[in-house]
Amino acid sequence: MLDAGAPAIVVGGGIGGLSAAIALRRAGIQAEVHERAPELREVGAGISLWPNATRQLRAWGLLDEVLRRGFRLAAGDLRDPRGRVLTRMSLPPADAPSVLIHRADLHAVLADALPPWAVRTGAEFRALRETAEGVEADFGDGGTETGRFLVGADGLWSAVRRQLLDDGEPVYRGYPVWRGVAPAGSAEWPGLTETLGRGLRFGIVPIGGGRVAWWATANEPEHADDGTEGRKARLLRLFGDWHDPIPQLIQATPDGEILKNGTYDRPPVRRWGRGRVTLLGDAAHPTTPNFGQGGCMAIEDAAVLARCLARTDDVPAALRAFEAQRYRRTAWITRESLRYGRVAQWQRAGAVRLRETLFRLTPPSLTSATLARMFAFEA
Ligand SMILES: Cc1cc2nc3c(=O)[nH]c(=O)nc-3n(C[C@H](O)[C@H](O)[C@H](O)COP(=O)(O)OP(=O)(O)OC[C@H]3O[C@@H](n4cnc5c(N)ncnc54)[C@H](O)[C@@H]3O)c2cc1C
Repeated sequence: MLDAGAPAIVVGGGIGGLSAAIALRRAGIQAEVHERAPELREVGAGISLWPNATRQLRAWGLLDEVLRRGFRLAAGDLRDPRGRVLTRMSLPPADAPSVLIHRADLHAVLADALPPWAVRTGAEFRALRETAEGVEADFGDGGTETGRFLVGADGLWSAVRRQLLDDGEPVYRGYPVWRGVAPAGSAEWPGLTETLGRGLRFGIVPIGGGRVAWWATANEPEHADDGTEGRKARLLRLFGDWHDPIPQLIQATPDGEILKNGTYDRPPVRRWGRGRVTLLGDAAHPTTPNFGQGGCMAIEDAAVLARCLARTDDVPAALRAFEAQRYRRTAWITRESLRYGRVAQWQRAGAVRLRETLFRLTPPSLTSATLARMFAFEA
């Protein structure tokens, strides 16, 4: 019989998996993270943490360090490629800050909150088997682990999800995102900016430590490559005549450090677990990055999961309660994000003019109401 103190198996050491282990351990539930990469690391890009996530980080005692490393956001705006402001982003008042931070910094803060023995690297999940009292997970060369329950936090292409739900691949939404980090230098930028063109977008995100993160999108088929000209040259061709400091930021980023990922999500599903197994973060509810909420929702998930499990010894019931509590919110954000992305990627000249007019006419209080709803969540 499995010891009631056997640890939970968390598959994946991204934002979701690390947060899950932090939240579970704080609730008195042993948890170990199993990450397939040889070491814990994150990509060279920025990430926004909105009040719905920073509130949780504060409850875990991690917000001060996040603020120390990141950039506290006070303002933002949407612009056209000439730099004219279409609308100011008014951040609704919240009891927790909005923070922009380098992903590696966030990852380090989360990893440091766990004892080193709670994270195992070089462990690639292959398959699971449920037993009467627990779950057995096969990590190939990394051996077999037995736990009280298993949380699949293995991201967009989740192997745990494949085995549990077998519901196909994520859906490509028509545009990739290029990302980079450049020294702030002369391109010091006061807040978050998103600039919308014809089927093209560029975002500027100060992330603290004298760095500015940026991202760009363009409508193109899945897996399209940047051709012989290379990423940087292509981006300079697409955005070279946009407002300052867009060309300078691309120019200041080494070609080999520019990332490119497709945007994907999945139509929301109500239930993403079975027995003593559940999913969390992108494995459960991947969303397009348009509102910068995917990682924030993974942090929320972790807090709700721990709360559900802390209340009962009935693990399967607690996992179903977790999924039920997370469905509406995550489905809403996933759908809103997809909708915004579609409009933001409009390409025809008439549609773009209409969009610009709509943005100019929309009272900031309206956008602020949607953001307020996103930011208000408390686990
Ligand atoms: C361009 C872009 C911009 C974004 N911007 C923001 C933003 O500003 N704010 C925000 O909140 N969110 C943002 N997101 C979303 C955010 O990055 C994700 O929602 C978040 O990383 C999800 O965390 P996760 O832990 O669920 O998955 P992941 O971060 O994908 O982590 C999964 C982990 O599991 C590991 N793994 C995978 N398979 C296995 C296996 N078989 N066995 C063991 N380990 C495995 C992986 O190596 C990885 O470490 C953005 C996403 C993109 C693509």
